[in-house]
Amino acid sequence: MNVDQLYRNAVLGIAGNTQIKQLVQTRGWNLASRFVAGQTLQSAITATQQLERDGVHGILDLLGEMVANRQQSDACVREILEIFPAIATLSFPKYVSIKLSQLGLDISPELALENGRAILSAAKNVDCFVRIDMEDSPRVDKTLEVFRTLRTEFENVGLVLQSMLRRTEADMGGLSDLKPNLRIVKGAYLESASVAFTDKAAVDLQYRRLVYQSLEKGQHTAIASHDHTIIDDIKLFAERNNIPRERFEFQLLYGIRTALQKQLASEGYTVRAYIPYGKDWYAYFSRRIAERPSNALFVLRGMVQG
Ligand SMILES: Cc1cc2nc3c(=O)[nH]c(=O)nc-3n(C[C@H](O)[C@H](O)[C@H](O)COP(=O)(O)OP(=O)(O)OC[C@H]3O[C@@H](n4cnc5c(N)ncnc54)[C@H](O)[C@@H]3O)c2cc1C
Repeated sequence: MNVDQLYRNAVLGIAGNTQIKQLVQTRGWNLASRFVAGQTLQSAITATQQLERDGVHGILDLLGEMVANRQQSDACVREILEIFPAIATLSFPKYVSIKLSQLGLDISPELALENGRAILSAAKNVDCFVRIDMEDSPRVDKTLEVFRTLRTEFENVGLVLQSMLRRTEADMGGLSDLKPNLRIVKGAYLESASVAFTDKAAVDLQYRRLVYQSLEKGQHTAIASHDHTIIDDIKLFAERNNIPRERFEFQLLYGIRTALQKQLASEGYTVRAYIPYGKDWYAYFSRRIAERPSNALFVLRGMVQG
């Protein structure tokens, strides 16, 4: 395991501590707001409209995950369903990300499926695409299963796959018959060496392989990374293999490498920023801190000064 991995595991481990969580939740909103558009749907819509001025589209993401009971999943689903009437008449491309654990996956996959159907129908009515995020490895099988059923019923749904997981190449092969719309990411969760590559170089290598394979299969592919060397390689790959620009796009996170987002858009690529909003920002914020040591220094400074 290299230093990057050690740092990441340490931050994600510490983030699980209840006292740290309470401290950051009470004092950390100013810091989290670098990565989170706001606590309301309206704040995310406003952020989307601002990005549109630079040619960057938005992906609305209601924060909150791993809900423990039916009451919480019902509340999450209600809040997600509020998005569609609110954006129905707005002129930007409509795109939402969801997590199946918000929809009750841990209670039962059938509940997540039923909620997924309600969300996809409401999204379809306003011409909105819905991306199912990928969560940690114990949830991958159930997520694939629910996605498979939803994809056979709906066109407006796509999935995320993570290059850090050893199983992903096989998972991607197993989805081919669905002609899936895939977002490829490196993976943001704490995983053990038995299921995940622990070396960053291996994760990056696998990332390129997955994107190239997905593009070669003719699947619409969202390249979700801030890694400019990977982005440059993929641009070159697409050019050399005559892959039309409508078949792929770049996706980045709100507040991260914003100049690169604008630059890619100005070069004529489709670019989307993932715009998280809501009160339940702690887990998302922790994963962003775990991705980069300088982010941890920024938090420490903020907590001491704040
Ligand atoms: C649109 C989108 C959707 C995603 N959806 C999922 C999902 O469904 N499931 C999942 O597990 N993960 C998801 N992720 C997160 C992803 O797995 C990675 O954890 C994250 O993107 C960091 O990896 P990277 O590819 O950007 O490259 P890295 O190799 O981590 O970073 C490359 C460079 O990007 C910049 N950078 C990266 N992260 C940060 C940061 N936090 N702060 C500041 N600079 C940074 C730095 O300059 C860094 O040197 C998503 C990411 C994006 C962009």
